[in-house]
Amino acid sequence: MDNDTTLLLGLDGLAVARVERLEDGTRRVHLITADEQARACPECGVFATRVKGSATTRPRDLPYGESGLDFRWHKRRWWCREPGCPRRSFTEQIPQIPAGARITVRLRVAVGRRVPDAGSTVIQAARDLHLSWPTVMGAFRTSAREVVDAPLPEVDVLGIDETRRGKPRCGRATDPTPRLDDLARRSPASSRVITTSHRP
Ligand SMILES: [Zn+2]
Repeated sequence: MDNDTTLLLGLDGLAVARVERLEDGTRRVHLITADEQARACPECGVFATRVKGSATTRPRDLPYGESGLDFRWHKRRWWCREPGCPRRSFTEQIPQIPAGARITVRLRVAVGRRVPDAGSTVIQAARDLHLSWPTVMGAFRTSAREVVDAPLPEVDVLGIDETRRGKPRCGRATDPTPRLDDLARRSPASSRVITTSHRP
């Protein structure tokens, strides 16, 4: 369903079926699935053709205006009839709202950035985004894990810090301090001399 309201919402994979205004002024947005991939079995990948039933969820998204929007996603349950597939049925999901997720991916990303980048506390971010503390904390943990688990960028040039003390010297550096392997090569007598030479 490609309409202006869907375009305004900008939530990939979902279409706006209708919008209603409740008595308290809340705008309730009824959403339907608009992604063909949603009826692909998450286990075997085969597209299902037989509907099992329906379900309605209430995903949370980025705030819109002062009162926000109240979403109702009317989605379908499908039978997977692929022989050998252990998954007998499944419910539609889209990349922005994976199975079991209560908030959209774009909201989770926004929460994850708000805490470290804006210096906001978890409870303040929860107030600003009209979310509960556990939801914000869970989103922050997920974002933090993604940063920690991400591979480090490859090193193009490896150097040393340019800050140094004193004038630069060219040539081979000489270190008057005896190294352990040097001491090992020396005789016990010479080692004794070094030891005693450091006595006050
Ligand atoms: Zn399957």
